Amino acid sequence: MTHPDDLYGFTRPELTERVASWGLSRVHAARIWRYLYWECVDSLGAMAELPAKVRSRLESETRLGALPVSREAHSTDGFTRKFLLGLADGREIETVLMRFTGRVTACVSSQAGCAMGCVFCATGQMGFARHLSAAEIIAQASHVARILHREGSRARLRNVVLMGMGEPLHNYEAVMRAVSILTDPSGFALGADRITLSTVGVVPGIRRLAEERRPVHLAVSLHSADQAERETLVPAARKWPLDELIGACRYYSERTGRRVFYEWTLIEGRNDSGEHARTVGRLLRGLKAQVNLIPLNPTGGYGGTPSHPEAARRFQRILTEEFSIPSTVRQRRGIDIAAGCGQLAGTG
Ligand code: SAH
Ligand code: SF4
Repeated sequence: MTHPDDLYGFTRPELTERVASWGLSRVHAARIWRYLYWECVDSLGAMAELPAKVRSRLESETRLGALPVSREAHSTDGFTRKFLLGLADGREIETVLMRFTGRVTACVSSQAGCAMGCVFCATGQMGFARHLSAAEIIAQASHVARILHREGSRARLRNVVLMGMGEPLHNYEAVMRAVSILTDPSGFALGADRITLSTVGVVPGIRRLAEERRPVHLAVSLHSADQAERETLVPAARKWPLDELIGACRYYSERTGRRVFYEWTLIEGRNDSGEHARTVGRLLRGLKAQVNLIPLNPTGGYGGTPSHPEAARRFQRILTEEFSIPSTVRQRRGIDIAAGCGQLAGTG
């Protein structure tokens, strides 16, 4: 598990407080923070310019939990790099670096495994191992930022999506601590519109996000707009039914003024007909919504196949023409490196 004093888990005020508690100037905390989030160092030893008294305190009382790479895969188009990172307890999680039009996005995991059991998802097929700490979430974003830094790239880490392994709203506290660290103006300084949290539909978590007006975009994995059908794909739907989920999304938009993104994994013959598109249109009528259509990435534990591009286009056309709901079809970049959630870890 994470060391309780892993520097990646500290907010800047906490780090400043800790340094002051050692009887040292707060200025050192600002320097340490820059080492972490501007220079992207991977060890305490690399903080070379710190006075010896600061370094010795850091080394005796804290850790820096940079995560070693167990495996790495690049997509043939060069836009996606996927890392399997090793945790201190030997478990492994996935982090993905994605480059779209010069912008770099880190896709990070929030749990090792997942308890939600979505039938088509490689992570769901593994089951739940444990929650990640905030430090382990930040270590993933730092890994991506470090790669850019070392390449001498002019691109900076611009976006973080919580769409890797795990259900972020099942690990609320750690995820929100990580969000505070990611948005710190002296660190990664990601704006409120730069972090997207994707949830299977944990209703109390969505309501809490809305209450607390957390600086994240919300994506909800819908996959079906019919309660009985959705339960067969997403078992968690039994606990948080569609009407409650949509109620929570409406509340979120009212409180935050934001639209909600609805994720829809397109599975041939399962949820990709014209009638399916109309059920979504009717369900989302009147809501601030955008639908993101993602052709299924086939996984070992599920027999479904991705929809044909023509089915995706028809789905999109119905949403636009009959319901005026904006939508995108996500390109299946990186499919050649098993870029679907949990799929690199699943191949052992
Ligand atoms: N647990 C959260 C976030 C992680 S999953 C959630 O479910 O939203 C991120 C996204 O990947 C979800 O929309 C999920 O439905 C989708 N996904 C999972 N397995 C997939 C697969 N095999 N093919 C396509 N999309 C998949
Ligand atoms: Fe968990 Fe998301 Fe996978 Fe469902 S799709 S099993 S919620 S990680």
